[in-house]
Amino acid sequence: MAQRYRGVFCRRCREPIAVSAKVVRLLDEIENNESNLPYTFVARCKLCEYECLYVISDVGTFEGEPRKGIFRNNVQTSTGRV
Ligand SMILES: [Zn+2]
Repeated sequence: MAQRYRGVFCRRCREPIAVSAKVVRLLDEIENNESNLPYTFVARCKLCEYECLYVISDVGTFEGEPRKGIFRNNVQTSTGRV
């Protein structure tokens, strides 16, 4: 099963950014009420760390796994030294 998440495209590097749970909840509310509230939020690209203001209508659905963090988040590999 393909995973899906809500996100926006980074304005600088075009990488998809997963939006926060708060934004997802708001999206659901808007969809259920069929209202078109002008709502903006700030999303930060995990890749280039560019922060930008987005409108709720910028949010799309992406398939795959959201980027979980920066590369330095790597699990420590064993170096053979303790
Ligand atoms: Zn970016």
